[in-house]
Amino acid sequence: MVTGGHPGDPECGCAGTIARYAKSGASVTILYLNHGEGYCGTASLDRCAGIRTAEAQRACEILHARPLFADQIDGRALVDNAHYESFGRLLLAEKPDVVFTQWPIDRHRDHRALSMLSLDAWFRSKNEFALYYYEVAEDTMMFSPNEYVDISSVEAERRAACYAHASQQPGKWYPKQVEITKARGRAAGVEQAEAFLRHPDSRRVALP
Ligand SMILES: [Zn+2]
Repeated sequence: MVTGGHPGDPECGCAGTIARYAKSGASVTILYLNHGEGYCGTASLDRCAGIRTAEAQRACEILHARPLFADQIDGRALVDNAHYESFGRLLLAEKPDVVFTQWPIDRHRDHRALSMLSLDAWFRSKNEFALYYYEVAEDTMMFSPNEYVDISSVEAERRAACYAHASQQPGKWYPKQVEITKARGRAAGVEQAEAFLRHPDSRRVALP
């Protein structure tokens, strides 16, 4: 399972890893915190949730993942007891073996909220699933990854999943993503890689 603050975040940080998992026969669920109602380019705001839900569904089709939505509101993420409860229930019902979530030190409030909600679900599960953090380009700060997934063979799928989010102007940010995966690839000794940080108390799983 991959959790993300908005449609596009899981794809941005993990699309290559998701594609590799799916090719290995694993079933992957992407849990989006909201429907992206806060921004969709030139279309009016009341259309954003519909547009971005469709984009997320298309990205999931490309990656052979299943989309799931926590039904919070973009830009207004809530982290309180009621939302720890509802998010935790949703996540734990999936019985994930491993969860990839956003690193908490991040420019966007929704990303920080999503990270806290995911961490809380992990505590509630008594650390049953493995917990890894991923990065989303310029939003993520102070991130020192220690594990890498070679995504060189699935770069086309990764690109297509990111470009499925057409309302987010992928042409502007995707090239920066490639610079990052190339830099992570140099660290890992491969052409392109996605980078992760395993929670130090999490069990280790074999990444694809
Ligand atoms: Zn986001």
